[in-house]
Amino acid sequence: MLNVPSQSFPGPSSQQRVASGGRSKVPLKQGRSLMDWIRLTKSGKDLTGLKGRLIEVTEEELKKHNKKDDCWICIRGFVYNVSPYMEYHPGGEDELMRAAGSDGTDLFDQVHRWVNYESMLKECLVGRMAMKPALPKGMLPQSQVTDTLAKEGPSSPSYDWFQTDSLVTIVIYTKQKDINLDSVIVDHRDDSFRAETVIKDYSYLVHVALSHEIQEDFSVLVVENVGKIEIVLKKKENTSWKRLGHPLENHNSFIPKKDTGLFYRKCQLVSKENVTHDTKLFCLMLPPSAHLQVPVGQHVYLKLPITGTEIVKPYTPVSDSLFSEFKEPVLPNNIYIYFLIKIYPAGFFTPELDQLQIGDSVSVSNPEGNFIICQLQELEDLFLLAAGTGFTPMVKVLNYALTNIPSLRKVKLMFFNKTEDDIIWRSQLEKLAFKDKRFEVEFVLSAPTSEWSGKQGCISPALLSEFLKRSSDTSKVLICLCGPTPFTEQGMKMLHDLNFSKDEIHSFTA
Ligand code: FAD
Ligand code: NAP
Repeated sequence: MLNVPSQSFPGPSSQQRVASGGRSKVPLKQGRSLMDWIRLTKSGKDLTGLKGRLIEVTEEELKKHNKKDDCWICIRGFVYNVSPYMEYHPGGEDELMRAAGSDGTDLFDQVHRWVNYESMLKECLVGRMAMKPALPKGMLPQSQVTDTLAKEGPSSPSYDWFQTDSLVTIVIYTKQKDINLDSVIVDHRDDSFRAETVIKDYSYLVHVALSHEIQEDFSVLVVENVGKIEIVLKKKENTSWKRLGHPLENHNSFIPKKDTGLFYRKCQLVSKENVTHDTKLFCLMLPPSAHLQVPVGQHVYLKLPITGTEIVKPYTPVSDSLFSEFKEPVLPNNIYIYFLIKIYPAGFFTPELDQLQIGDSVSVSNPEGNFIICQLQELEDLFLLAAGTGFTPMVKVLNYALTNIPSLRKVKLMFFNKTEDDIIWRSQLEKLAFKDKRFEVEFVLSAPTSEWSGKQGCISPALLSEFLKRSSDTSKVLICLCGPTPFTEQGMKMLHDLNFSKDEIHSFTA
């Protein structure tokens, strides 16, 4: 929570009260200061009434929203629902109403050009003004929205492209706010270019055979608050392209993700380090012709040809250590993917994986999984129950929560293993608990040596009820579980019996 007294803010002579032109401000009601507005925008409340969707607004539609309790204003091509902001507007409601249902850019520029409205009104963004219909360059077909797309589902993205002498930029308009660099997966192979954008449970595909050659590397940029993705390709020759290319399978389609096949790209093994007697940290490098970031809590499939058959198994990427700070990557392409993998001598896949030499390749699929990052939003207590390599999804969840969730009060990991030798990253976990007082770790061993003085046994109601203490009666809690299937199933049942609700539990499964 921001701890700023609302009555005294803005200060009597602050810019928030007196604009450069000396325009008089109306007195704001108590609890309607700029800081109160910022608090409201960060509260997660749906301020547009569109549940996070961005729409294209026609002039006719804009005109309809011209009342105080339903007021849309267009500024520089973007439409905002300013009704929730009315009472917070330092210039008063009447001033805002002058632009109701219309393009207020000129009015805005006359009065407060200096105001960073994009950031102030970010949560009020309804969408862009609809352009006059323009055919996508390159004569590519219209978007095919499948019949299965539910009316309530996200509206179909669209794409366009433009060029300079040396670059071709493909722009995907997702019409969604909650997108980031994880949302788009790009692969370029020979002349086939594929960009898959994942929006909720749907997948939008741009898939074309490019009309000209491009260089291997490219960059991907996301303009989050307008839901725009830009993929910047470098031309091999500085010639003008008449069209982007010709459509390949499922080009410009927007279909449920479950109906899309898994797409693989070959990655190179760049390092392999022992972590315990049977678990190793594998580092794979994506080719420069790919952009792929695995979202927190999701897994990928690794594919290897074994005795002439392609074998696929799921694995959950981790960070390279518990101390690699979780930040949005500065570089457009995050090229390394790390895995903690236990090698089972009698297993089918892992001994083959372990045989790979540095420089050998493994195919890596697109990410899958049903963990969504907003489960962590405004969380106060996070409990992680992991058994063996069931620790892997916890790594990024832990890193993300400690770095990005300001409301977080405590994170507790209960880590079940057979023996001390089996504990993955034990010293890192202990160091983290020492460094960050919000984090606690407890190891439980099912087959300890006689020297072990810590907790013993398997997952049980007694262990859980002692461990899962909320920091307050009403604190927002999430419990994540992962391990062998029977461990996860038993744990789920015990948590329900302990009266935790479905929303408070997330189990990682295939
Ligand atoms: P398998 O051939 O599956 O054998 C595993 C063990 O079971 C061996 O000891 C084998 O002898 C024994 N076994 C096999 N069949 C039988 C049988 N019929 N009866 C008795 N015993 C049998 N693992 C990780 O190490 N790291 C991860 O990040 C990771 N992430 C995962 C994510 C998901 C979503 C899922 C579902 C699993 C994940 N796993 C992870 C597990 C991984 O997918 C494999 O199951 C694991 O690596 C074993 O594969 P394998 O082919 O080597 O062994
Ligand atoms: P392990 O070493 O065999 O076991 C780890 C701990 O779990 C041990 O204390 C073990 O106790 C306990 N355990 C095992 N089976 C149990 C059961 N049926 N009930 C209660 N406790 C049990 O574990 P592992 O070989 O690392 O295997 C990890 C598992 O996690 C694999 O099955 C893997 O597929 C799964 N996994 C899933 C995901 C995902 O996202 N879904 C990700 C990673 C890993 P005992 O000594 O009593 O056996």
